Amino acid sequence: MRKLLFTCLLLGCSGLVAQSIVLDNSISAPATVPKQAVSMDLQAIDKSVDPCVDFYDYACGNWRKANPIPADKVRWGRFDELAERNRYLLYQELKTAADNPKTPLQRKYGSYFAACMNVDMANKLGTKPIDPALDAIAKWNDKSKLGWIFGEGQNEAGYAFLFGFGSEQDQKDSTKQIAVVVQRGLTLPDRDYYLQTDDRMKKIRAQYVEHLTKMFTLLGDSPEKAAAEAASVMKIESALAEGSTPRVELRDPKNVYHVMTRAELQSLAPAFQWDDYFKQMHRDSLTSLDVATPNYFKALNEEINDASVEDWRSYMRWHVLNRFAESLSEPFDDEAFRFHAILTGQKEKTPRWKRCTAETDDALGEAVGQDWVKEHFPPAAKDNMLQMVKALEVALDKDIQGLDWMSDATKAEAKKKLMAFRRKIGYPETWRDYSSVVVKRDDPVGNRERAAVFEQRRDLNKIGKPVDEKEWGMTPPTVNAYYDPSMNDINFPAGILQPPFYDFKIDPAVNFGAIGMVIGHEMTHGFDDEGSQFDEKGNVRMWWTDEDRKKFDERTECEVKEYDKFEPVPGTNLNGKLTLGENTADNGGMRIAYAALMDVLAKRGATAMTKEVDGYTPEQRFFSAMRRCGARIRVQRHRACGPR
Ligand SMILES: [Zn+2]
Repeated sequence: MRKLLFTCLLLGCSGLVAQSIVLDNSISAPATVPKQAVSMDLQAIDKSVDPCVDFYDYACGNWRKANPIPADKVRWGRFDELAERNRYLLYQELKTAADNPKTPLQRKYGSYFAACMNVDMANKLGTKPIDPALDAIAKWNDKSKLGWIFGEGQNEAGYAFLFGFGSEQDQKDSTKQIAVVVQRGLTLPDRDYYLQTDDRMKKIRAQYVEHLTKMFTLLGDSPEKAAAEAASVMKIESALAEGSTPRVELRDPKNVYHVMTRAELQSLAPAFQWDDYFKQMHRDSLTSLDVATPNYFKALNEEINDASVEDWRSYMRWHVLNRFAESLSEPFDDEAFRFHAILTGQKEKTPRWKRCTAETDDALGEAVGQDWVKEHFPPAAKDNMLQMVKALEVALDKDIQGLDWMSDATKAEAKKKLMAFRRKIGYPETWRDYSSVVVKRDDPVGNRERAAVFEQRRDLNKIGKPVDEKEWGMTPPTVNAYYDPSMNDINFPAGILQPPFYDFKIDPAVNFGAIGMVIGHEMTHGFDDEGSQFDEKGNVRMWWTDEDRKKFDERTECEVKEYDKFEPVPGTNLNGKLTLGENTADNGGMRIAYAALMDVLAKRGATAMTKEVDGYTPEQRFFSAMRRCGARIRVQRHRACGPR
């Protein structure tokens, strides 16, 4: 649940485009490593464009011409380019471990990867891996045992589709870890997909029902039965969507904090047997918890009463199937992709080697990551990065202290918060112990289930224990970064600390423009509309004076209005309120990184301030290195990563 408040760097996107699709089942990767990008890429620049008229086209023009969106991608930019290279390097590591493991850890992740790659076995197994769960659902016929069957499925196989249950740091005392239940339960990307009445959404819903029907048919159901089951799933999910809190509201911490006793939860949603559920989850001793989204649980309660046993059976059956569809035989995998392509516009299925690499990283990330960083992240890179982070902290401090609208009292609190930032660079100091995860070379779905159960138990075991300040929320090869307001920490995985974002051997103007901007972005999240509600200890506390907060809100409101006007696709504007945190972080990050560079160069003397490289001044190199260059399929709907 803590992840709900992570404010990460990348904007995701989803939407609808009609495309012809190609099912590519090729499992072997290309023989060559994708080229390493150059940090200060002079080839990317289109000198025919006047940088004073359109800097983006100037800085990225040639790169964009040379980089159409690949068929298995829905967007393509410098982040994606690096992510693809990291994934390839990880793939090589996994393949070697699968063929010739040298350590027990390599045997484990190598086997996980090998099982995932085995298409013939997946085809042979068909639906066998999920048959036990489907059989249990077929026998279930009593709504008063919903808590029991759902708890059983989640505890034994990690089926957690109806709602989320986990741990989080208490907003009022971040040293405490408490239990939390939160909305989930939908298949489509957002509640809007179920509720909006425009033609486009209506069409998606029709296509979704068609997809559900096809999937049930593949399970062996008659067309009539499959159609009825699809209608049941749609009915339940639509009701749950109605009760779900909108994403914009999820951004405000007080909207997701409702600590109550178990008895209070029971009376909020009496139709669900919470005692049975917590017993199954081995959390019978739980006395209180945060019910993050109470309206959702009210809606769930109503729907348990309204929908029939048959409806609920269809809903459970669907979610069991949907969770593992890509790991079952090819007809399921193909149909899952067909619908994914409708939602995203992706033209070609992601090759299996890429999917299995990502899946292994997802399941055993700190096992594969510890070998990956040995090769790709030297200690000197970490030391230099730490110096850059410190330089940015000094710049941000100066910036805040110099604000003419903020009182000294608020400035002092801001400084306290900034000085308390925990810096995490590259990878964790201690690695997660996966020795209890059983991995079998002939059981890909079982491997996924066991990895999910391991992660779920690890998370639930934190309840009531001291906070592990050294824990990471991203795996080492990940090309991303995040700020966590409860931890008050900034996190930069080794995956993003690579060219073109970072190269510790090159000149500071380029590094400050590229990774410096990322560092500043994450730091600014500590002071955006959401992060600024948390204090230096990670507690939600109003550390601003009333007057300063009013002035802050006026300033953020201005930013909301500015971004509301951006229209990336004709007819669709950004939602400035939803993306406010990211926009604040981008603007703040750029400003701080630039100030930090100027400080560093000033210390080195006048020559450093003006020294040209390849005909570019430090300022020009800074802004050229900052460009993100990229393109995405023209989706019609935007989703920011903020609320996640
Ligand atoms: Zn961000």
